[in-house]
Amino acid sequence: MKPNVIQRTTLFGIIGHPVGHSLSPLLHNTTYKALGLHCNYKAFDVELTSLGAALRNFKALDFSGLNVTIPYKEIIMPLLDGFDDKARDIGAVNTIVMKEGKAIGYNTDVAGVMKSLEPYADGFEGKHALVIGAGGAARAVVYALIKYFDLATITITSRTQQRAQYLVQSFKPFTTTTVRTLSFLKPALNEAVEEASLIINATPIGMFPNVNASPFHTDIAFRKDHIVMDLIYHPLQTALLKNAHKAGARTISGLEMFLHQGAQAFELWTGETMPLPKVRKVIEKALQK
Ligand code: NAP
Repeated sequence: MKPNVIQRTTLFGIIGHPVGHSLSPLLHNTTYKALGLHCNYKAFDVELTSLGAALRNFKALDFSGLNVTIPYKEIIMPLLDGFDDKARDIGAVNTIVMKEGKAIGYNTDVAGVMKSLEPYADGFEGKHALVIGAGGAARAVVYALIKYFDLATITITSRTQQRAQYLVQSFKPFTTTTVRTLSFLKPALNEAVEEASLIINATPIGMFPNVNASPFHTDIAFRKDHIVMDLIYHPLQTALLKNAHKAGARTISGLEMFLHQGAQAFELWTGETMPLPKVRKVIEKALQK
């Protein structure tokens, strides 16, 4: 009689608080199934006071990788054994590779932003970008804009002005692009939208269940030559994107960034390529439900 072969399952997960909304388990488990990999990916809601202990437990349980989401992308960094240059420069980690007892941090959100904007890049040279929000995701957005696109200025507006100022200061050493802050008040925002070619929402304003909320007032004047990206992917078309689309602007849903950041994390962990068209269909279906 042949002995039963027990195949070891390689473990991955996402940590955050809250984390129940995350579609990353569906993204990665769909990929494992499509490629026939013996891997499993789960979401873990971790409280701040347990973050260090949780990381030690994931190492002890021989996890191979983790994603990190709100609100830990920045504060997890001192708990890691190292990070790559990009994650260090950005000051935020969304992917951890765990190998031989060490946890090394990476930032694949940057690739997510870069890949989402790449099809539009021809029109960016010498133009102005407006980024709303100054959190962990905005840091990846600004880094991608600086490194991969030839914009003249990047303007950051945030409810908490000090956070925007801190973001601008921390990117100064890496760029000759003008990166500046702007007041979050309506007249300043209206003016910035008028000047900008590219507008990116990096706040949760408009995310499910607050689907009617938008970072802008409804009378904001979008134009045909605007490119408007929302990092939110639930809903696929936020109030901001609907409004911009109505005015003829080109719009980019946060789904693009979500898929590409996940694909790069998967590649870091396994060395394999995520079958994006197949996975995209599954995620779109889940979001339309
Ligand atoms: P974060 O670190 O918590 O930062 C959120 C930013 O939004 C901060 O600047 C915050 O301002 C601002 N903000 C939050 N609520 C606001 C409100 N009601 N009015 C005005 N400003 C508000 O979060 P994050 O990690 O940067 O994530 C931001 C968004 O990006 C989330 O919706 C997240 O789901 C999305 N995201 C998407 C992807 C993707 O793959 N598509 C990846 C990463 C993140 P204060 O400092 O004043 O609080």
